[in-house]
Amino acid sequence: MSLRLQVCAECGAVQYPHRDVCGACLSTQLEDKDVSGAGTVLSWTRGHVSVFPDAQTPISLARVKLDAGPIVLALASSALITGEAVHVMRDEDGLLRRS
Ligand SMILES: [Zn+2]
Repeated sequence: MSLRLQVCAECGAVQYPHRDVCGACLSTQLEDKDVSGAGTVLSWTRGHVSVFPDAQTPISLARVKLDAGPIVLALASSALITGEAVHVMRDEDGLLRRS
């Protein structure tokens, strides 16, 4: 399962979120490429109340270190375990979500 993220054509660094230059080498040669969504949960929290009336609760928000390099925030519909191996994908709303 892959995830489309910005990859530097000069040094190969994968970065998230998108930027104008590579955070590793300052190159502007950046391309969107499919990278693995595999990663490890660094930490997570669970929200039981939302200011958005249509939002599903409870919802979990995880900080995930991708095997490809960057750390991302991803939604999850269930509880997580710190250190758990997960896969992250982009959902139909463009949000990163644990698959
Ligand atoms: Zn670079």
